[in-house]
Amino acid sequence: MKFGVHVSRAGGLHNALRNAVELDCSTIQMFAGNPRSLRSNPIQENEAFDFKEGLTKHNIEPLVIHAPYLLNLASPKEEIYELSIQALAREITGCITLNADYLVIHPGNHLGSGIDAGIARIAQAIENAAYIAGLKHSNEPLILLETVSGAGTEIGWAFQHQRDIMAATDRVSLGVCLDTCHMFAAGYDIVTEEGLAGTLEELDRLLGVSCVKIIHANDSVGVLGSRIDRHADIGFGEIGEKGFRVIFGDSRLRSIPFILETPKKTIEDDRRNLAVIKRLAEEAVVK
Ligand SMILES: [Zn+2]
Ligand SMILES: [Zn+2]
Repeated sequence: MKFGVHVSRAGGLHNALRNAVELDCSTIQMFAGNPRSLRSNPIQENEAFDFKEGLTKHNIEPLVIHAPYLLNLASPKEEIYELSIQALAREITGCITLNADYLVIHPGNHLGSGIDAGIARIAQAIENAAYIAGLKHSNEPLILLETVSGAGTEIGWAFQHQRDIMAATDRVSLGVCLDTCHMFAAGYDIVTEEGLAGTLEELDRLLGVSCVKIIHANDSVGVLGSRIDRHADIGFGEIGEKGFRVIFGDSRLRSIPFILETPKKTIEDDRRNLAVIKRLAEEAVVK
């Protein structure tokens, strides 16, 4: 199985690589630029080259980029919408420079315009950004739609949303990134065997399990259906050790890379959560 963490690239890409190697990650996620800004500092070709060589040398793949939080591809406000499209185009360009495998995006917030209107905006935004960045079919699926918890007017908490966005995006093929905390907070029971079986049946019917390229492994502070997006250390939230054993019991999910986005102050927090999740994956009864 593949496990990794969201690493910081503060101070340069070499720091992201050093952290990944130190934690023995077999996959990583990072931000290409500043996650709290829609402007990004472009990645230098020579820095990207050394980084890629390092990842290859240490067998770290896939490389996943998470788009900035401020992006809102569903915004009914024209100015924010245009800025978000430009920002997404820059993220795609950054992924091409880095030779990243996937770009994870949150679908967006409709801010009162409604889910259907939001979904149409998202599909249009993705197509425009892919066109601006010159995304080639050979690089697809690059963009993964993340499943979110459904706080406020967020789109993407139900698998139908991802399906409808994919159906409306004919020029770009998309994949999906699951998040255990978000799915649970959105109301998908993934912590009992029957619940997980039902959830995966729905996922497979609407999207196809093969669309899922990455899973964010996070425990959840909020209870089932709480719509609260707050990540907890693995085993210390409402999913708990038992819940993760159930998740790791499904052989289809085990073939997908798991990336931690658990709370951290230092690298030791990542080290601890990685050790816990690897132990739970080993303890799971695989069906
Ligand atoms: Zn995310
Ligand atoms: Zn989250």
